[in-house]
Amino acid sequence: MAMIAKNERSPHEALILRLLRDEPPHSRTTLSDATGLSPTTITKIVGPLISRGLLTEREVGVRGVGRPALILVPVPDAVTVVGVQLGVGTIKVGLTDARASVRSAEARSFDPTAPVEDVIELIANTVSSVLEADDGAPCLGVGIGVPAPVDEAHRRIELSINLGWKQVPISDMLEARLHLPVVVDHNVRSMALAEARYGEHEVNSIAYVYVKTGLGFGVAVKGQPFYGSPGGESYLGHTRVVEQGELCSCGARGCLETMVSEPYILRRLAAIDPTFDPAGNVLAILHEWASRGEPAAVELEDNIIGHMSNAVATVVNLFTPGLLLLGGIFAISPAPMISAIREQTREQIFPLLRDALRVESADASLESAVSAGASVALEELLYR
Ligand SMILES: [Zn+2]
Repeated sequence: MAMIAKNERSPHEALILRLLRDEPPHSRTTLSDATGLSPTTITKIVGPLISRGLLTEREVGVRGVGRPALILVPVPDAVTVVGVQLGVGTIKVGLTDARASVRSAEARSFDPTAPVEDVIELIANTVSSVLEADDGAPCLGVGIGVPAPVDEAHRRIELSINLGWKQVPISDMLEARLHLPVVVDHNVRSMALAEARYGEHEVNSIAYVYVKTGLGFGVAVKGQPFYGSPGGESYLGHTRVVEQGELCSCGARGCLETMVSEPYILRRLAAIDPTFDPAGNVLAILHEWASRGEPAAVELEDNIIGHMSNAVATVVNLFTPGLLLLGGIFAISPAPMISAIREQTREQIFPLLRDALRVESADASLESAVSAGASVALEELLYR
């Protein structure tokens, strides 16, 4: 397939594309009103977008006399982006259109202790192979969600404790191989962004708590991903929940992540009954044992639900999202656990928020991971 390495946008293009994505419908006239740009300027921006196939114009019905109105309609298929999610030992790669809708996806696994260069090589090879198999629109670039804070320019991984990576210029390394623009962002923020922008949730303020090797958090408020200070993320997983608790990978003690994460739950399950299958669904196993009345499992399940509810309530009180999604091991956890977290959260949040609160398990599919990575590329390379 054809590849374009350069971003050919004019300064106002992203603004127009964003308005057509977020507040349709628009005609040239309403775009002029919304942006303050003259009709002539709008035509100068819209013309090339139409000739490149990114927009089309459609007549809409008129009442009474006069010419039919023409509205501008985005053509999502005119754009291809690559979405990647890098996990601790897995990569998920696929292609989407301008609305982060996935048309192909693949997953690969790797040894989390492998050298950075080997993992980058695996990502580059997988991206190349999905692009070669595709005959869609030219590729605009690659967006990657990573389990780490990134620099302000969206090009470098600052520090991933779980991968043991520090200051990795992942965009430079992949661009040298792929000859396409590559942008990175924090994985859970990219998940929140994708759900807020392109998910069909009828809310655009979405918080996301992802629990796997660690406990990550991301939030998009009114569709905008939340960024703290440079290189900063929201470290919900490193909130202290146990005084003098277990030593955490961050160097502190008693972090939430030391009580609610897959490695912790696996260790606790092994202490109850070492014969269980560690490759299974850890929360399903725990829930089954607790339902049978195994006292240590009942206590562990209660603890996990309690800690998660406290964390979720804090997030809800701070950001008042319309929806809170629980991903990773909670995306595939038994429904009664999610209901229990929702109920216990409700008891701890401001009364005005209680009725509207939605706490749901996230989409655990490969496609949803790819869509999150792609939303980073779309945000940085098309709509900003
Ligand atoms: Zn910690």
